[in-house]
Amino acid sequence: MKFRDLQAQYQHLKQQIDDAVTNVMTSGGFILGKEVLELEKRLAEYVGVKHCVTCANGTDALQLAAMTLNLGKDDIVFVPDFTFFSSGEIVSLVGAIPVFVDVDRRSFNISPEALEKAVEAIAIEGKYKPKAVVAVDLFGLPAPYPELRKVCNKYDLALIEDSAQGFGGRIGNKVAGSFGDIATTSFFPAKPLGCYGDGGAVFTDNDKWADILRSLRVHGKGDNKYDNVRIGMNSRLDAIQAAILSVKLNAFEDYELDAVNQVAKRYNEMLADIEGLILPEIPEGYYSSYAQYTIVLNNQSKRDGLQEHLKSKNIPSMVYYPKPMHSQQAFAPYNFDTECLDVTKKLSETVLSLPMHPYLKDEQVAEVCEAVRYYMTAQ
Ligand SMILES: *Cc1c(COP(=O)(O)O)cnc(C)c1O
Repeated sequence: MKFRDLQAQYQHLKQQIDDAVTNVMTSGGFILGKEVLELEKRLAEYVGVKHCVTCANGTDALQLAAMTLNLGKDDIVFVPDFTFFSSGEIVSLVGAIPVFVDVDRRSFNISPEALEKAVEAIAIEGKYKPKAVVAVDLFGLPAPYPELRKVCNKYDLALIEDSAQGFGGRIGNKVAGSFGDIATTSFFPAKPLGCYGDGGAVFTDNDKWADILRSLRVHGKGDNKYDNVRIGMNSRLDAIQAAILSVKLNAFEDYELDAVNQVAKRYNEMLADIEGLILPEIPEGYYSSYAQYTIVLNNQSKRDGLQEHLKSKNIPSMVYYPKPMHSQQAFAPYNFDTECLDVTKKLSETVLSLPMHPYLKDEQVAEVCEAVRYYMTAQ
């Protein structure tokens, strides 16, 4: 069994993907080009924003967003403590200061109450200016944007949506990538919509920002590549990845997003009566793209024990994430003691992500659930 079965997906889409890749190689336009422009148009339509600007990966997408917002020296940017490293890394990369905020124990996403407390603490201290929030759609579930938006409005903060894991998620009819003032996603192979290498995109409704993004990704170009009006990056999506993504986007829209939700439903049903497990809960009106199906155990020894047991049955599982952002050595120079980060600390000791992808078969889900049940009831 695979944690995320990309080969099964390829077998499903092989003919179309092979044709799409061959077309690009025959046409000879490899960087940006027609396929990329077509993909950007489709992605913007899917997400429901005016502009999609693709780039080399999800981390660059975040950095491009931060550069577009002009974040830099002495600016404070609030980041959830429970996320992948990039969400905070890019804050430091542009010279701003990340302040980590605790998450909600059930949604795993940034807590609006904890955010407000952290903003107040920075404001009272008075030394730095609170400027922006990076909200992460963790494991496929959109962050609580209606509440976050209120906090951002109250304190005049820009809202960056890191939807690297959230592509396809929704709140009501609004799609992930449309919640932030500017939003980003990643096409890393294992993300909800992945390519066969690295790729990423930035989404925004702001025309001026879209122009800046298109300049920034090509060395800060002006009228052309050899007219440089700002310091930028070299961060573009290549045409082969765009061609693969356009085939995969069809499958994603047609059945993959629905399939992962069916897998989640099956897990929920089969694990519901097992004591000592907390299952993922999707708030009313929210829809997840289930980048991960993550359960929570009572304590670390139970979590580690279950993972060991699954491994002995050849069932892969992952700990996302074993270390809170605030305890990463790389962030040691920024240690702001603004609030307590207990929820993240506890989650990092107790979460476990189970195999999840659109091609997971019923009998495989059953096999995972039986192994979980055996371990949990044998204790
Ligand atoms: C994967 C991920 C990123 C970075 O994406 P890359 O394409 O790997 O650079 C950023 N934020 C989150 C939450 C992620 O999961």
